[in-house]
Amino acid sequence: MSTREADAAALISDFHAMSTFGVTPGGGVDRQAATEADGETRSWFMGWLQGQGFRVEVDAIGNIFGFLDLVPGAAYVLFGSHLDSQPLAGRYDGAYGVLAAAHAASRARRDLDAAGIRPKYNIAVVDWFNEEGSRFKPSMMGSAVFTGRLDLEVALGTTDPAGITVRDALDAISGRGSFTDLDVAAYGEIHVEQGRGLEDAGIPIGVVASTWCAYKYEIVVHGEQSHTGSTMMKDRRDALLAASKMVVALFDLTSEFEEEVLHTSVGQLFVLPNSPVTVAREVRFLADLRARESGILIEAFAKLTEKIAVIEQQTGTRIEIASSSIWESGPFLESGLALIESASAELGYPSLRVLTVAGHDATNLKEGVPTVLVFVPSVEGISHNEREFTHDADLIAGAEVFTTVVTRMAQGALDA
Ligand SMILES: [Zn+2]
Repeated sequence: MSTREADAAALISDFHAMSTFGVTPGGGVDRQAATEADGETRSWFMGWLQGQGFRVEVDAIGNIFGFLDLVPGAAYVLFGSHLDSQPLAGRYDGAYGVLAAAHAASRARRDLDAAGIRPKYNIAVVDWFNEEGSRFKPSMMGSAVFTGRLDLEVALGTTDPAGITVRDALDAISGRGSFTDLDVAAYGEIHVEQGRGLEDAGIPIGVVASTWCAYKYEIVVHGEQSHTGSTMMKDRRDALLAASKMVVALFDLTSEFEEEVLHTSVGQLFVLPNSPVTVAREVRFLADLRARESGILIEAFAKLTEKIAVIEQQTGTRIEIASSSIWESGPFLESGLALIESASAELGYPSLRVLTVAGHDATNLKEGVPTVLVFVPSVEGISHNEREFTHDADLIAGAEVFTTVVTRMAQGALDA
């Protein structure tokens, strides 16, 4: 077996081993942040890192780091993604990226050593805590705290729907550490596309050139609790009715723009008191709006504000926008795109420049350091679903390209 074949076999074997944690009947995984299944995956990953000679550290928000200290005193080039998942999700989203980064880092160390090259930077890999944001909002929490975008204490105090804090949930899986002060020179991430662009084009490597913007609004509808039988229809102030109209209004908003220019959704409602014989007094939900340009989202929000006023009038409720999280769109570095393209070409893989509609930890990191994001294809673009699938050949190709990316970034390829 050649080294290349052995590397590929090891990656696929480790991916299968990792995919047993939180496995679901439909062949996916359910590993929401800081659950037992997330804890098991994290433990497995830390064991893997230690077995490969990485120094392992955990920070105060539960991000796991593995370090290859090659150059005493130098900064680190950092590579990773997330091990947590949505409920009833696929095996690939995030987890593939963490494993591919770890394999790539390990191979890069070996290849640099064999070539007698002393790199400019040390190499580190990371599992960012709570990228998904399904149990604890907001999403991309670990990388947001790491980059200073989100306050640590605010994040630790965030509760899930059962009232459990991030702090307590992390402590239950021994998931909090005290590591601080990592000097990051550059960041790289590899992820499944979660769209169908690469598959439709028949191209194995996606070079992410830009992110979409995402505006998310935490909305609270205030109504009044009353009897579902005896309350006159005209007297009702039904928060669930108003929330339902909001769900429809958000969907209809997309048809006021060119096709597929605006994506909107409401994926979850919290209803109080959530009784079948009581008119709801309060409903909370997250309105998720995404587009290529912020101008579209600003226009969409203005239209939504008009719709809110109408719905308030129709239902006798008050609709409050309690908070918002804004991720602006932005291009990735041209030198990073060129690096991925040359790595792909040298290995014989065609590549294609694509956009990312989904948010990734790389979105947080790219604000501060030179950052690259590589995609591999998702069959039929299916994601956040147990049927999410990527062919082994694409997983292998992605890890090979990423190994070259890691090796070159460790040698300062993205330095200004
Ligand atoms: Zn992901």
